[in-house]
Amino acid sequence: MYRSHTCGELRESDIDQEVTLAGWVQKTRDKGFVVWVDLRDRYGITQLIFDEERTSQELLEQGRTLGREFVIQVKGLVIERTSKNSNIPTGGIEVLVKELRLLNSSKTPPFTIEDQTDGGEDLRMKYRYLDIRRNPVKENLIFRSKVTMEVRKYLSKEGFIEVETPYLIKSTPEGARDFVVPSRMNEGQFYALPQSPQTFKQLLMVGGMDKYFQIVKCFRDEDLRADRQPEFTQIDCEMAFVEQDDILNAFEGLTRHLLKEIKGVETTKFPRMTFDEAMAKYGNDKPDIRFGMEFGELNAIAQHKDFTIFNTAELVVGIAVPGGASYTRKEIDALVDWVRRPQVGAKGMVYVKCNEDGTFKSSVDKFYDQDDLAKWAQATGAKTGDLICVLSGNADQTRGQLSALRMEMAERLGLRKKDIFAPLWILDFPLLELDEETGRYHAMHHPFTSPKPGQMGLLETEPGKVKANAYDLVLNGNEIGGGSIRIHDKEIQSTMFRHLGFTPEEAKAQFGFLMDAFQFGAPPHGGIAFGLDRLVAILGGQETIRDFIAFPKNNSGRDVMIDAPAPIDDAQLKELNLKLDL
Ligand code: ASP
Repeated sequence: MYRSHTCGELRESDIDQEVTLAGWVQKTRDKGFVVWVDLRDRYGITQLIFDEERTSQELLEQGRTLGREFVIQVKGLVIERTSKNSNIPTGGIEVLVKELRLLNSSKTPPFTIEDQTDGGEDLRMKYRYLDIRRNPVKENLIFRSKVTMEVRKYLSKEGFIEVETPYLIKSTPEGARDFVVPSRMNEGQFYALPQSPQTFKQLLMVGGMDKYFQIVKCFRDEDLRADRQPEFTQIDCEMAFVEQDDILNAFEGLTRHLLKEIKGVETTKFPRMTFDEAMAKYGNDKPDIRFGMEFGELNAIAQHKDFTIFNTAELVVGIAVPGGASYTRKEIDALVDWVRRPQVGAKGMVYVKCNEDGTFKSSVDKFYDQDDLAKWAQATGAKTGDLICVLSGNADQTRGQLSALRMEMAERLGLRKKDIFAPLWILDFPLLELDEETGRYHAMHHPFTSPKPGQMGLLETEPGKVKANAYDLVLNGNEIGGGSIRIHDKEIQSTMFRHLGFTPEEAKAQFGFLMDAFQFGAPPHGGIAFGLDRLVAILGGQETIRDFIAFPKNNSGRDVMIDAPAPIDDAQLKELNLKLDL
């Protein structure tokens, strides 16, 4: 038996017990006649004491030689500590060592295995197994396990069946590049790794599975924007014989369950907002509604004077920053510089201070009088003491810029509180999105998404205006899930492919299997997928998903620990019938 207890377990009630512990040496303190060792395992830290009087000189000497991260087993007696440590649960006791066995030695670790480590990100990733010994990383992995357990518990209770789908498949259209795997047995042919199990879960519905879920790895070969991973995990779900409302209710239930079980947060019915409304109010399809600062459109009240910049703008729109009227000239200039940074891209910013005495002071006093500015205040919901920030220009760009400013101001004002959870559904996304470069439309969600009832006709005339039966679940400014009601009719699916620019031959080659299946009684169906990594990070109150992934990739898609990707040798290339031409 390696251990009778863990290193997090012993208390004063265990005093006088003989115990066996095993773990890692966190640190040793040598006082000459006595040596203390902090012994660590997953469960905590227990202090060991080697003492020349009560144990033996020889044992004390052995204790003295223990280095950081040595793996040891000790047998000893639980005794009361003379100076107790109330910061740790085992702080009332220590173990007087009677026997010591070295299970393994360790090189000096490249960084300290402490909550606050001296190791930088790269070093910690290279030695991720040491990083995982640290509390913050360990706790995150345990937290993730708890979340996935709750997901399985909830969905199983609701009658969902977990089905695994294959990883070696063919292209799935989630809008990213595929990772491909050469087939040795089928010369010159390749599998693609799933960008999601989309087509398989739809086929499971045709197969009558009715309620499916899977906690599943997905692979997307994208340029890694901030906080993305080329392989990530989804809670992937699909249901048959459902309408949009059924899906929203089912997965609102799951989300509510997680918030309650994991965070102890009770939520009422999640608000629902259309895509158009979200864009108009927040300039963003994943609005953070933990705070207000809703957009106020000013076109009608700001485009009647001689201010050319506004008069020629497609959109004039502002937000009221709480308490911002007290900003100094310098602070406001800094804010103007902030919106002009290339990352935000605004040309400039007009501001209005809503003074305590009820008057207004603006950067455009030359053009607008107090009555005009009072109307702006009304439109943006500004109160005395606030600062109205106004941007103008092309509608889409201006919305994006003001949304960035809104988030920045909320951050500065401490309004993005980690312990507040504000979920909402965004509905009625556009079906298609125009690719500016190619001038072609592509599916905003994916090509299996059904248009809103009665909108098929619009596809021919104004494709950009067609709305989809597609929805996202947003939590604190992050999209945590997205899905749609699917097309389940072969003809409609063919029409959709045609609008997306597929020739009938291409559609057949890529998705013939799905169209075939639709000829055999495909039930109406729909689903959703949650990004598990992000969901866990948000529930855990942290920013980066990497912190919740045991072995993440870096920003260039590399695993620096195992050093992948890596070249393969010529024999392997030959076997795969591959020739490199670099
Ligand atoms: N497959 C979709 C995605 O990965 C989710 C869905 O439509 O269910 O975003």
